[in-house]
Amino acid sequence: MAAEERTPAIVLRARDYSESDRIVTLLTRDMGKLSGIARGAKASKRRFAGKLEPFSHVMLYFRRRPLGHLVFITRAEPADLTPIRLDDDLGKIALGSYMVELTDALASEENEAADAYRILSTALILLGEAGPTPALRQAFELKLLGWAGFGLEFDRCRLCAAPSETAGARLYFVVARGGVVCTRCRSEAPEGGFPISPASALALARIGAASLEAACANSPAGADGGVSLARFIGSIVDRRLRSIEFLDSVMPTGNGPSR
Ligand SMILES: [Zn+2]
Repeated sequence: MAAEERTPAIVLRARDYSESDRIVTLLTRDMGKLSGIARGAKASKRRFAGKLEPFSHVMLYFRRRPLGHLVFITRAEPADLTPIRLDDDLGKIALGSYMVELTDALASEENEAADAYRILSTALILLGEAGPTPALRQAFELKLLGWAGFGLEFDRCRLCAAPSETAGARLYFVVARGGVVCTRCRSEAPEGGFPISPASALALARIGAASLEAACANSPAGADGGVSLARFIGSIVDRRLRSIEFLDSVMPTGNGPSR
């Protein structure tokens, strides 16, 4: 039998399987994204203690199987990990659901994900403590995109490098360029662009450069910044995230650019 391994982990999704088992997908600190089967999880409060629900922050114990991609989850316990508490608030659940679904969409089983675990766990803990805010959503999106290799640029024009501070009245976010272009360069970006105010672009640049904790204390970008991020994410995630509709009903991104 394979040796038992353990790692801190956050449950991304879970579903019942057969009479008494659960199939669970987690983002782990040490082993990337893992899916496993927890035999008897619906009955064993001792081994799992209701800890295999989305957002659960647990020390996961598991054994690998020689064949097949599901591991055997043997135990999950709170250990000394900071609990994530979202259950008292619809807005927290909405933003938390979006955070885990976006992480699930961007993380793959093959990749190391310690930084993604750190970003997700910090963001969910902040969400539980301080509630859902546009600054937290934008900070999480920028950090996770950065982890996935998409370093978006908002502080200067992607083409001529003119600083956003001196951009005048309007910049354009161009999805295919992963950043903003200035009015002068807009005609050289045939992909078109989405108008974003320099104030929103600078807010996103500040949020992206700060730690998650500090970013939450910053002023968020306006609706045009939120929509720019949403469009970029829509372009790289190959399916519409189910949690988006719920989140938009509780915490709208905005329907157009703020002027
Ligand atoms: Zn330019």
